[in-house]
Amino acid sequence: MLANRMNNLKPYVPGEQPKDREYIKINANENPYPPSPKVKEAVVDFVENNLEKLGLYPDPDSLDLHAAIADMINKTGGVLSRARVDNGEVTPDPKDKIPFTVTPDMIYTGNGSDEVLSFVFYAFFDSDKKLICPEHSYSFYPVYCGFYDIPRLPVELNDDWTLKTDKMVQLANENHSSTIFANPNAPTSLGLTREQVREMLVKAPKDQVFVVDEAYVDFGGESSIPLLKDFKNLVVVRTFSKSLCGAGMRSGYIVANPELINAVTTVKNSLNHFPMDAVTQVASTAACNDVAYYVECAKKVCQTREDFISFLKKNGYQVNDSKTNFVFLKKNGLDGKKAYEFIKENGILVRRFDTPGIEEYLRITIGTQEQMDKLKAIMEKL
Ligand code: PMP
Repeated sequence: MLANRMNNLKPYVPGEQPKDREYIKINANENPYPPSPKVKEAVVDFVENNLEKLGLYPDPDSLDLHAAIADMINKTGGVLSRARVDNGEVTPDPKDKIPFTVTPDMIYTGNGSDEVLSFVFYAFFDSDKKLICPEHSYSFYPVYCGFYDIPRLPVELNDDWTLKTDKMVQLANENHSSTIFANPNAPTSLGLTREQVREMLVKAPKDQVFVVDEAYVDFGGESSIPLLKDFKNLVVVRTFSKSLCGAGMRSGYIVANPELINAVTTVKNSLNHFPMDAVTQVASTAACNDVAYYVECAKKVCQTREDFISFLKKNGYQVNDSKTNFVFLKKNGLDGKKAYEFIKENGILVRRFDTPGIEEYLRITIGTQEQMDKLKAIMEKL
């Protein structure tokens, strides 16, 4: 009864969302802070004053939103936690300043970066070439490879969880392949510098697309957006789900040169040709227009993260230097599964993967300071 291609599907397993009990939920890298009050205002205004627009198809080109995203990136340099806010004016840290102006035709938006990534896989990765990706990275990449029948060439990580960048580039050249990885990477939380990404781009095949997934970059990573000036094969994927406190909005985007944006738009227009819904477009635009609010949220998350990391180190945990809104940790002699279960019994959900090589690790999202203090009290008993 089922089509043969169904055999290739291995659906993604998200962080659990149990309904039986109220948990503190720090297992899906969501932001503990709500969207800006300006988002609420814009959505309420839309519903109260423009309800008839829900009866019409949304703007297919999402022009307002693309302009708002481009403006936000130019103002922040693409890294919220380092951006400066002075009397409501937002400016990038000099280290992040982009050496050109990002324009709306360099933006593509979709229903969460998961959907955006799916179209990227379809548009750029072929079934007769192995896609280069780290062995441990976002676990949706292998799922899409199954969906689109794209062979994968996973590259093991170094013992300290950093990416083997030279090996990745070497294999990309040997196989004439595209490359994808998250930067900072998940679940390891470590980031490559822009120079390291530049070195990879210099050596990687120029006629193959090179994708950097920046879902977490706003929490202290280095964005590759400035590299778009020199590398026409670079695609940067980003999301509203983490630093823009909008996982429930389902809003994600690409920053790339217009030719590649057009290719992804062609894929979208051949499948579900309307963009994200009208309310999400309004909410996402309002979020970009109040980026100062999100800069403060990102700074708070980073502060809480550093406090939690020092707690972990004091208590004998091995923890990576995180450039994200989560930490990746283990303790010698502590069984990862038991630790996860003990924390859950005490009312907090964290994430653990059954994947070989990382079974003993926990990936814990940074919540509010209060939530993390509760977690610390539980972990002290472990
Ligand atoms: N990329 C990475 C690296 C992620 O961890 C996630 C979140 N699970 C996503 C993309 C997708 O996020 P969303 O679809 O919510 O934009």
